[in-house]
Amino acid sequence: MFKQSVFIKSAADKSGWIEDEIPEILFVGRSNVGKSSFINSLANNKKLAKVANTPGKTRLLNFFDINNSLFRLVDAPGYGYAKIAKDAKMRFAEMMEEYFDERENLKAIVMLVDLRHKPTNDDQEMYHFLKSSNKRVLIIGTKLDKLKRNEIIRNEKLIKETLNFNPNHTFIKVSNENKVGLEESFEVLIRLIKE
Ligand code: GDP
Repeated sequence: MFKQSVFIKSAADKSGWIEDEIPEILFVGRSNVGKSSFINSLANNKKLAKVANTPGKTRLLNFFDINNSLFRLVDAPGYGYAKIAKDAKMRFAEMMEEYFDERENLKAIVMLVDLRHKPTNDDQEMYHFLKSSNKRVLIIGTKLDKLKRNEIIRNEKLIKETLNFNPNHTFIKVSNENKVGLEESFEVLIRLIKE
C-alpha cells in the first residue's frame, strides 16, 4: 500500500495539469461505487479522497502525489449520477476526453465496478472507451464483503460478460470494509506504470 500520499491540486482542464514526466494513473467509476473508500484504503488515510461528497458534484480531476512522486493518482468525478444536468454531463465528457487524448503522463486507468450489480450503461460506455484507448486497464470490483459465497463467481462472470471484458486486463475483487485485495491492487498498479 502507499507509503506516502498527498493531495496536490484539482484541475478543470489542461490549463491546470502539471508539467513534468511523472506517470499518472486515472481512477474512474460510477458515483457511490466505493472509489473514494478504495483510494483512502490504499493510502490508509480516511480523509484523503473525500468520502460522501455530494455524488457527482465535483467536476474536477484531483491530483495526488504517491510515494514521493513514484506516480500521481488522478481521481475523476464519479459518473452516472442521475440528477446531474445535461450541460454538466457534457463538461464531464469533455474534460475526460481532453485528458485521455492529450495527457502524455497517463499510463494506466483503474475502473471500479460494484460487484453486487450488473454494470450500467454508463459503465459499459466507459469500459468500451477505455478499451479503444489502448491504455493499460485494471478493473476493481468493490464491496466483496456484501456478496454471499455463491454470488462471487456468478457476479464476476456477469460483470465480465456485460462489459465484454478484455482478458488482457486485470480484474481484482476488493473490500474496503474488510481491507481485502489492497496489497494485490497496489502491486498491479506498480506493474502497470513500470511496464
Ligand atoms: P464513491 O462515490 O465512489 O467515492 O464512493 P464512496 O467511497 O463514497 O463509497 C460509497 C458508499 O459505499 C459509502 O457508504 C462507503 O462506506 C461504501 N463502501 C465503499 N466501499 C465499500 C466496500 O468495499 N464494502 C462495503 N460494505 N461498503 C463500501
